[in-house]
Amino acid sequence: MTGPSSPLPPASAGAPPLRDRLGRPPGVLRLSLTARCNLACPYCCPDAQDPPELLTLEERVLLVREAAALGFRTLRLTGGEPLLHPGVEALVAALRPLREAAGATRLEAIALTTNGLLLTAERAQRLRQAGLDRLTVSLDGTDGASVARMGGLRGGAAAGDRALATILAALDHARAAGFDPAAGALKLNAVITRGRNDDQLLPLAALARQRGIELRLIEYMDVGNRNGWAPEQVLPAQEMVQRIGERWPLEPVGRSAHGTAARWRYRDGGGSGGPGGSHLAVVASISAPFCGDCNRLRVTADGVAYSCLFAATGLDLKPWLRPGPDPAGLGAALSGQWRARRDRYSEERQEQTLEAAQRPHAEMAYLGG
Ligand code: SAM
Ligand code: SF4
Repeated sequence: MTGPSSPLPPASAGAPPLRDRLGRPPGVLRLSLTARCNLACPYCCPDAQDPPELLTLEERVLLVREAAALGFRTLRLTGGEPLLHPGVEALVAALRPLREAAGATRLEAIALTTNGLLLTAERAQRLRQAGLDRLTVSLDGTDGASVARMGGLRGGAAAGDRALATILAALDHARAAGFDPAAGALKLNAVITRGRNDDQLLPLAALARQRGIELRLIEYMDVGNRNGWAPEQVLPAQEMVQRIGERWPLEPVGRSAHGTAARWRYRDGGGSGGPGGSHLAVVASISAPFCGDCNRLRVTADGVAYSCLFAATGLDLKPWLRPGPDPAGLGAALSGQWRARRDRYSEERQEQTLEAAQRPHAEMAYLGG
């Protein structure tokens, strides 16, 4: 897609609510701050360098403002590793007026996903004070060898042990800064791949239970073109739930509205977990796709908007951001892209109605998950 010639007008007061071609409303804006990372997870394969034209703080604020006016109520900051970006706190602080706004332009939550390695006590406090509502920390194992393997760390188990200690301390720092897991403000993410870290399922569940943090288990997805994904490496969410449930019996808590995750609670009440008593969530994007509920837009660190995690191309928003900002044009571009959206890649992959797996995709660290 190209730039400023979008024929569709911006959403405006009194206009019908914005819907894509499959009737889906906008909801979550995922904004990548950098494509770089301090880990090299083999399922993600981040970039060594950022693209040349990163958005500025002012450009990101304008983008979030226009997206919020269209109905994107949650902002998730991601990457690459977003905490490599020195300006995260300043960005969150600059978005505070949108959080505090009333009515149709209001942003309801700002969240951030991190591998936790740079989340010091001071950083956690600064993020909370700036106005960050929720933190998700990614951790794929509970021993040094697994953490090193899943994080692509050189230096084997010893390096993994050091990283693990840092990440566990980050969870403590987050909680101390006010990110309360019982209120859903602190969660753990784990990507489970068969044969690589599925032996970590029970240890990760035990760790999350002990800390009272909701654990979100994610099926390994075929994002990007570098990770060598193969279907046999996917551990279906149902099997994850079964294995954990055999050790600690589970009962379903349902799905959250437009949520990607099915939620479960431990019958023994162990692990206080997230709101509604949810202790465990599974994201079954491969085995049980949820395209019909997808309300996400992804914007890369250099301002390219992708309407699907599996899209090959996006819409470059920079023509409406520089040299001078064009808020009305930006709003029109975003709403036009959303109205034209008909992506349902994961369902098509499952239906095998197209050679979906052969299509090129943008890389995960570029899109931010
Ligand atoms: N660096 C941060 C982190 O790891 O939390 C944020 C960016 S990362 C791309 C966002 C999330 O995507 C992480 O929880 C990561 O585990 C997940 N992820 C990356 N590649 C994936 C894949 N191929 N399949 C499923 N989840 C993936
Ligand atoms: Fe880095 Fe996150 Fe990708 Fe791992 S998943 S390489 S931590 S961006």
